[in-house]
Amino acid sequence: MGKKIIIIGGGVAGLTAGIYGQRSGFDTEIIEMHTVPGGQCTAWNRRGYRFDYCLHWLVGTAKGPFHEIWRDTNVLNDQVEILDHDVHTRILAEDGSDFIIYTNIGRWERYLMEMAPEDAKAIRKMCGDMRRGIKLEPFLNPPGLRKPGEYLKALVKMFPALKVIAQNGRKTCREYFAERKFKNRKLAFYLDSIFGDEEFSALAFLMMLAWFNQRNAGYIIGGSLPLAKRMADCYLSLGGKFSLGNKVETIVVEGGKARGVTLADGTVLKADYVISAADGRSTLYSMLGGRFLPPPVKKAYDSWKLFTPLVQVSFGISKSVPEKFPVMAILAKGKTIGSTTLKNNFVLMNYSFDPTMAPEGKTVIIIRFESPWEVWQNLEGVAYKEEKDRIRKDAERMLEQQYPGIGDFIEVADVATPKTTVRYTGVWNGSYEGFIPAAKNFGKTLDMTLPGLDNFFMAGQWIYPGGGLPPSAQSGKWAIQLICKKEKQ
Ligand SMILES: Cc1cc2nc3c(=O)[nH]c(=O)nc-3n(C[C@H](O)[C@H](O)[C@H](O)COP(=O)(O)OP(=O)(O)OC[C@H]3O[C@@H](n4cnc5c(N)ncnc54)[C@H](O)[C@@H]3O)c2cc1C
Repeated sequence: MGKKIIIIGGGVAGLTAGIYGQRSGFDTEIIEMHTVPGGQCTAWNRRGYRFDYCLHWLVGTAKGPFHEIWRDTNVLNDQVEILDHDVHTRILAEDGSDFIIYTNIGRWERYLMEMAPEDAKAIRKMCGDMRRGIKLEPFLNPPGLRKPGEYLKALVKMFPALKVIAQNGRKTCREYFAERKFKNRKLAFYLDSIFGDEEFSALAFLMMLAWFNQRNAGYIIGGSLPLAKRMADCYLSLGGKFSLGNKVETIVVEGGKARGVTLADGTVLKADYVISAADGRSTLYSMLGGRFLPPPVKKAYDSWKLFTPLVQVSFGISKSVPEKFPVMAILAKGKTIGSTTLKNNFVLMNYSFDPTMAPEGKTVIIIRFESPWEVWQNLEGVAYKEEKDRIRKDAERMLEQQYPGIGDFIEVADVATPKTTVRYTGVWNGSYEGFIPAAKNFGKTLDMTLPGLDNFFMAGQWIYPGGGLPPSAQSGKWAIQLICKKEKQ
């Protein structure tokens, strides 16, 4: 058939669109401004260590519509090893006490009951809501291509969860926990500390634990970079074409149709269709000059809250540092790292569970914390370098508190800031998963098409509050399905 599709952005959404596009007989080209594909699903190598920036859990490692996509795109194959952690997070308070979130709901329920027998009824209710959340499944096909049977099937599956949705659909986590009226102070304190953001949706929390409970949100050994590479290899093997190190400046529109793109060096590339899997805001406001903005989309970009960007300090440790807990959230409200005052916590991830991250006998440990974009946006030159240096020293001190004596074994310390994220991926204000899944927008999606602009599709994390790899990939697949429909294919 050979119709040409230009895909802007070689992140997971763009790669998925490319793979399904090639499979459907189109002639696709991915234009990616960075020199490697993967977007935010990435990692970097430093002196034998690999510092991962993304993957900690991937919904769809076991079953369901996302699983099919991971199989189709070579993210999962028979050689790929999946690890299902028993513990989601260990939260540590300043007084030395801790709180564990288990990935198995039954186990977590028993743990909570032991801690707070006086709250048995409220705990049972919360865990019951999670179990019912298990019934929620993503749709296989995009809106417009779903058969009535698909809606009916979804409704039947979702039936046990409908009450949970009706009761909590527009509640924040904080409201949900407050309603349970936990009497045990430790339990109430820790639950309240799980999400730093006061707008975070209760349903998003309940569903997250439901995915884990099914052992359908595993970690993939090797992490983000090999994952992206497997997708890129799959795309190339199907005849796809990468144009790396090229930034798209504008989307060419003629007669109400997307007709191609103009690159930063002025080159014009023509196409029959354009899919933008790049940052949503720069697509709409810069590449399209704000000319195609339906009110719901404008409202979302004007008022929906963004994820606060992250600073990541990655350490290469020249000895083995075993650790039972893959993720630890250390409560440190009001403490500072560099110029950032922590709102809630910092997170420490010890990658000893993945032997591919460090040479034998060595360990990668990562510290991450939220740092508002305002801290970074005007920081340049010497001031930027000095801030990174302060952060490194503070993070080393924090690491030493967790693992006394470790300072002597730090072989590499690498600081990646929100500016690093923006430089390499163009993501708006460093918001690594786009819009927060808040009580007011949970379950809402933004249209993949724009009124007045034909032959153009949006894909990627900005379509769905909460972002993440699975919905981003799915939107790439859906964009191709919608093009197939237009082509009566
Ligand atoms: C620290 C961190 C941890 C995360 N953990 C998880 C996790 O455990 N599980 C999970 O599911 N998700 C996780 N995510 C979220 C996930 O990484 C993202 O939601 C997902 O990768 C977004 O994919 P995307 O393709 O939509 O966008 P992106 O990855 O942002 O890709 C967009 C691509 O477009 C390119 N681009 C931008 N502008 C242009 C232009 N003008 N011209 C050409 N190219 C352009 C960029 O360079 C980039 O490669 C995490 C993210 C981060 C940062």
